Amino acid sequence: MAEFSGRCLCGGISYKGESEPVFAGNCHCTDCRKASGGGHMALFAVPESGLEVAGETRGYDLTADSGAKVTHHFCPNCGVPMFNTNTSLPGLKVIVASTLDDPEFYKPAVSIFASRALSWDQPHPSTQQFDTMPPTGG
Ligand SMILES: [Zn+2]
Ligand SMILES: [Zn+2]
Repeated sequence: MAEFSGRCLCGGISYKGESEPVFAGNCHCTDCRKASGGGHMALFAVPESGLEVAGETRGYDLTADSGAKVTHHFCPNCGVPMFNTNTSLPGLKVIVASTLDDPEFYKPAVSIFASRALSWDQPHPSTQQFDTMPPTGG
């Protein structure tokens, strides 16, 4: 079991868990770029059952290119994106890795929507790159 924890900027939202990520990767899609404030969002998915969240996030819904409904949960006070839930990933929470107390817990294995990566934020060379979503979903 791998233990991890994280929090937003103001500390109003925090979480901890102890499970191996189901997947971990950088997403270069337009929604993630806008939400992250950078060229991609660093994300890892863990089972909801292994995760404890303290504080009330707010959420807004988007329909992803895949057709799935994605809910972005963020801190209502400081605005930091915390995690996503996705109707195509039932039972999982997709955590924004930049909120980790120990960001090195995050080991990106894949880059998704690599075809949309910006000239100034190219997919990490050590990752397996997918033009859109990996075939297994994610
Ligand atoms: Zn906050
Ligand atoms: Zn994305």
